[in-house]
Amino acid sequence: MEGCGRGASPLIIGRGEWHERLEEELAACGLAEAAFLFSSGYAANVGCITALAGKSDVIFSDAKNHASIIDGCRLSGATITIFPHGDTSALAALAKDAHRFRRRLIVTDSVFSMDGDCAPLDDYAAIAEQHDCMLLVDEAHATGIFGAEGRGLAEQLHVEDACAVRVGTLSKALGSSGGFVVGPQHVIDWLANRARSYFFSTAPPDACAAAAMEALEIIRRQPERRRRLLERAAELRDVCRAHGWNVGSSSSQIIPIYVGDPRRTMDLAARLRSEGLLVPGIRPPSVPHGESLLRISLCYHHEWEHCTALMDALQRAASSVD
Ligand SMILES: *Cc1c(COP(=O)(O)O)cnc(C)c1O
Repeated sequence: MEGCGRGASPLIIGRGEWHERLEEELAACGLAEAAFLFSSGYAANVGCITALAGKSDVIFSDAKNHASIIDGCRLSGATITIFPHGDTSALAALAKDAHRFRRRLIVTDSVFSMDGDCAPLDDYAAIAEQHDCMLLVDEAHATGIFGAEGRGLAEQLHVEDACAVRVGTLSKALGSSGGFVVGPQHVIDWLANRARSYFFSTAPPDACAAAAMEALEIIRRQPERRRRLLERAAELRDVCRAHGWNVGSSSSQIIPIYVGDPRRTMDLAARLRSEGLLVPGIRPPSVPHGESLLRISLCYHHEWEHCTALMDALQRAASSVD
């Protein structure tokens, strides 16, 4: 096959040898029976949610879920109930009262992309079991970072088997592009025939699959990378707090600095940028009003000098921006 693209959707001729190998690898790495690839994490969420829930069903969705989950919920035609962020008792009450629906689906990010905090997946797993719900977890920011083997937060909290499916992306810790889903064979087979964003969209390029294979190898061989990253993130949060910054309840490599006012946030981000520090300012509509923030995304290659340089620059920026 010539060219960069795969030329067609997976079910036509788009799924090649690299995709097959990566899918096997993702299933093996995810300790799941099966896996398959989407063109993006966005497509994976939209495809999975619309395939698992429809008109007679209800979806319980965390208030801070990623936009791709929100869009999947809307497209599914199911009744959507948003529960307050991370609120286990609210979710339990809703699930208890939902037996009139054909199917009940709980959907959540595992690590939240703006706040960097983690969903209580162990509690959700218990609720799902007690009230006969399916649990869909989006591990986009947790794959390669959380869990002894780097499989994500579900691994760390020992609830992988409680998830109907786990969605992920190749575009974050894996440094490639594309999305994926892992789960039991019968669920994956169902999705492969019903997730429209899978079979009506061209398969990701071979090069992306090959790059992701290499990234999985690094995750397997170098666990110290994720351990060091999370330790460094914890240290940086401590230093931020010591300087009086509000980092909320982040417990991951994503560290928000809540500023509140959108203009001040963007001014601070511009100051940092002018000093060579890339810390994007996030404002509405990406976050609710009053919650504008600077979003620090730490990665393995950030040394402690980078963190102290950031703190110094932030102090300077704060004193010059009103
Ligand atoms: C980035 C992200 C996605 C989308 O992944 P893409 O591969 O960029 O489409 C989905 N869910 C969450 C939580 C994300 O952070």
